[in-house]
Amino acid sequence: MGNELIKNIKYLWHCILNVIYSDGRECTICNEYVSDEKLLCNKCRAEVKLCKEYFKICEETFEVKCFSSAYYSGIIKELIINLKYKNDFKAGEVLVQYMVDTIRKQNIKFDVITYVPSTKKSIKKRGYNQSKYLARTISYKIDTKSLEFLVKFNNTKDQIGLNGEERWKNLKDSFKCINIKYLKNKRILLVDDVITTGATSFYCAKAMLRSGASEVIILTCAKSSL
Ligand SMILES: [Zn+2]
Repeated sequence: MGNELIKNIKYLWHCILNVIYSDGRECTICNEYVSDEKLLCNKCRAEVKLCKEYFKICEETFEVKCFSSAYYSGIIKELIINLKYKNDFKAGEVLVQYMVDTIRKQNIKFDVITYVPSTKKSIKKRGYNQSKYLARTISYKIDTKSLEFLVKFNNTKDQIGLNGEERWKNLKDSFKCINIKYLKNKRILLVDDVITTGATSFYCAKAMLRSGASEVIILTCAKSSL
């Protein structure tokens, strides 16, 4: 508990430093001068490959719609890595802006926002859960509630290095729901940083649908292939 508190304070401190030291005049990727409030210059922005279509995961008896803001390459990949491993919340801010744009342009409708959980082990390693940060920031920007609905069991392996089939097998039913009374009959937006095979998102969605959510829609910053 004490450890968690210290980490939260550290996280908060990082956010404060980010606000103090970002004047919004430099591109977060190439440090080029930016004339407006944006955190990404036009040149970097032009390199982002936006993802304009959604896809559906149909597994078992469930169907889940998945939206991504961009493809996982170049600038977007760099932004995600900077957020995830370097605590760069300016990069996080840019990613959130892309995700909010996707919600608006694709007219995605939902009642509550939630996120893909991390195991205690990976939070210990990195200090925070980037999907939680994305969900909370989106929630603040669009004025929609965000709640914690999922817990991941610790007994799964890291997905890195596994092929498609192994990823699905590794994650099968490895999430359980909490705060169930708040998700009953609600349309949930599930936020994550990257979608690859969709196994993580699907099993998260399945846990919430089985607990009474009326619909789960997935939104990630980026879509990647194995
Ligand atoms: Zn730039």
